[in-house]
Amino acid sequence: MADDCLFCRIVRKEIPAKLVAEDEHCVAFRDINPQAPVHVLVIPREHVPSLDHARDAAMLGRLSLMAAEIARNEGITANGYRTVMNTNAAAGQTVFHVHLHLLGGRSMHWPPG
Ligand code: 5GP
Ligand code: ZN
Repeated sequence: MADDCLFCRIVRKEIPAKLVAEDEHCVAFRDINPQAPVHVLVIPREHVPSLDHARDAAMLGRLSLMAAEIARNEGITANGYRTVMNTNAAAGQTVFHVHLHLLGGRSMHWPPG
C-alpha cells in the first residue's frame, strides 16, 4: 500500500469509485474518463507501480481473468473487446499503480494511437 497512490486509495475505499468486481486479490472499477461504452480498470490490491515492476505471474494472470469475466458480464465478449496495460510515459501511463484497461462496446482500431 502506498499512502499517496490514487488507486491504493480506491482499494482502501478512501476515494469513491464505481466498483464492478472485487476479490481478495483484485479490484475493478469504471474509468472516470471512459474511452468506450465499457471502460473498466482492473488492479491488484497490492501496490505495484507498473508492469515493469511486476514479478508475480499469478497477479498478472488474475487481472486478465477478471477482465474476461467482466467482459462476459457486460455482454461485450461476442463483439470483442480490448485489454491494455500502458507502461511509462510514451505509452500514456498516468497512474503508477499497475492496471489493466478493459475497453469494449464499440469497434476498436489498429494500430492504436
Ligand atoms: P493510464 O493513463 O495510467 O493507463 O490510465 C489511468 C486511467 O485512470 C485513466 O484512464 C484515467 O481516466 C483513470 N483515472 C484517473 N483518475 C481516476 C479516478 O480518480 N477514478 C477513476 N475511476 N479513474 C481514474
Ligand atoms: Zn497503489
